Amino acid sequence: MQVFREITSIRKFIIEQKSTGKKVGLIPTMGALHIGHLSLVRKSMAENSLTVVSVFVNPLQFTNPYDLEKYPRTIETDVQLLESVGCDILFCPLAEGIYHETPQLKFDFGHLDKVLEGQFRPGHFNGVAVVVSKLFNIVQPDVAYFGQKDYQQFMVILKLVEALSFPVALVCCEIIRENNGLAMSSRNKLLSAEAQVAAGVIFLALSFAKGNILQMNIGAIKAKVEAMLLDNGLRLEYFEMADRKNLNVLQSFDPHVPSVLLIAAYLGEVRLIDNVFV
Ligand code: AMP
Repeated sequence: MQVFREITSIRKFIIEQKSTGKKVGLIPTMGALHIGHLSLVRKSMAENSLTVVSVFVNPLQFTNPYDLEKYPRTIETDVQLLESVGCDILFCPLAEGIYHETPQLKFDFGHLDKVLEGQFRPGHFNGVAVVVSKLFNIVQPDVAYFGQKDYQQFMVILKLVEALSFPVALVCCEIIRENNGLAMSSRNKLLSAEAQVAAGVIFLALSFAKGNILQMNIGAIKAKVEAMLLDNGLRLEYFEMADRKNLNVLQSFDPHVPSVLLIAAYLGEVRLIDNVFV
């Protein structure tokens, strides 16, 4: 695996590779890689002739300085994991290389960046959109892979690609989970072994909600979800049902509308998100 830190050198390398007809897949990440990330890498490797993983803890998308400071950084293990699956390229730029100064650029995705995560993390999707735009411009991928784990992020990036006509196809990949249902996440590394067991309740609660969507109203489901979380020491931040196409929040279930149940909760200081399609 080749490792690049400099924008100019990866740019030159990619231009050379593309001129020989290589199809480039990109997986943007913030590192502290796990099997969920590797599933995206494997998919890209199966569908492209050159797979690039970026590892960059993007300060612009953090709304809480404590979260940025504590975000796990495990670059040596990341390199080993990427080599173990045969990834071609790792791009891990320095923050100074990506941002000479804090960009003043502001995106507005309308409703999409205001609801759900947007309500609790204002500015988060702006930071995501800036860094993803930069990565698309630097790496020039044909295809970029994202996880359903961050479904709202995927929707925002779809809108970004459409609005700015990036010549990039987007792929949304399924959520990879631990045995207890907990969605794999770099932030799980901040949880003790017992806390990781307790956090399994998030998926149990989503599964309960999905299983009872026809019998119970959404208010009653939400109350039950909140109680299930509390019993396991988690504090619910939000639980909503939304239209999968536009993330409009829904108050009642319509079997003809593809929907998604989305949740965010705190376990101690650690914020976890998850979702399931209905
Ligand atoms: P992150 O490093 O958390 O920014 O994640 C990088 C990419 O991996 C994002 O597109 C995530 O949605 C995706 N991802 C994170 N966790 C998982 C998971 N458990 N299963 C599948 N994809 C994931």
